[in-house]
Amino acid sequence: MTRSDLPRAAALPHLRQARARKGDPVALPLTMASMFHLPGDPAGFDQYGRFDNPTWEAAEEALGLLEDAETLAFPSGMAAISAVLFSVVRTGDRILLPSDGYYTTRVLAERFLKPLGVTADLRPTADFLRGGFEGYRLVFVETPSNPGLDVCDIGAVAEAAHGVGALVVADNTTMTPFGQRPLDLGADIVVAADTKAPNGHSDALFGHVASRNPDLIAAARDWRKLAGGIPGPFEAWLVHRGLETLELRFDRMCGSADTIAPRLRDHPAVRSVRFPGLAGDPAHDLARAQMDRFGFLIGLTLASEAKAEAFIDACPLIQPATSFGGVHTSAERRARWGDAVDPGFVRLSVGCEPTEVLWDALEAALDRIV
Ligand SMILES: *Cc1c(COP(=O)(O)O)cnc(C)c1O
Repeated sequence: MTRSDLPRAAALPHLRQARARKGDPVALPLTMASMFHLPGDPAGFDQYGRFDNPTWEAAEEALGLLEDAETLAFPSGMAAISAVLFSVVRTGDRILLPSDGYYTTRVLAERFLKPLGVTADLRPTADFLRGGFEGYRLVFVETPSNPGLDVCDIGAVAEAAHGVGALVVADNTTMTPFGQRPLDLGADIVVAADTKAPNGHSDALFGHVASRNPDLIAAARDWRKLAGGIPGPFEAWLVHRGLETLELRFDRMCGSADTIAPRLRDHPAVRSVRFPGLAGDPAHDLARAQMDRFGFLIGLTLASEAKAEAFIDACPLIQPATSFGGVHTSAERRARWGDAVDPGFVRLSVGCEPTEVLWDALEAALDRIV
């Protein structure tokens, strides 16, 4: 991580201390509540479980520290994305989505925004600036994109989009606030799936919306309260706990990916590797300029579907699973979900195992499929 992040990483585990009263638990209490004791004027107090919950608020405060922006918690990454789209976009609007990003975002727009009279256009992440943003109400970037790991220039997109009155939303799931800071680069809103590395333990879904624009936050907050897509207190508690080790886990995961990606590229069983940290990767120069780390996701293409499945099966340190960002390394062939990728393309999510032990296991599995 860079020096500019150090104060946030150091402040995070001490956030609750400032307001603690003598005798309070040091750890965050889990508040399971639909009702709150509320005689008389309710203003200024927790009122009802769909409006407020002290455990979400603690998770929001921690995420807000990392984002350096007001932050709202949601029950999943898609709930966060939906809250932004449905609270901002109106009938007649055009929006622009990445053609190669998380596919559910595109399906959501096609299935539920289109019938409301919203047009969603698609553009590849690597070419996102081409064609400009004239006529768009909202421009949605996902960089590096999942699963292809292409990158677009968030600052340049924000400048061009703001010049024609469009809002910029950045899905920062693949990087977390320790790897990339879209709001500092000019994005208006960050959305993210904390289901992935921020929770990190593969046991909860969660998401957040962060923005420095109070009107956008107020609209998303109203959406959450009225539509009712609220996070569960226990999930918020788990994510709050996960966040306390995010910087440590992310540092190990990214460091291991930096070490492992060039070795994968040089292995005879591997046809090609996509990793923004590799010199020569199409995303490398931009990644160096706008990302604090290169992330922990590596895309590798093996010779065939069968070889890719055999590699995943042969490695005892790979959890065969969809999703990413857990403490354990995981991988899957993305073509099994219909992503427009080579049948032998594997998305590898590097976990927290000791780096050289992990490499030895990956290398041994690759040696078996040469
Ligand atoms: C996983 C993911 C999401 C959705 O998150 P959920 O918590 O599964 O709803 C959104 N965007 C990206 C880039 C993701 O990887």
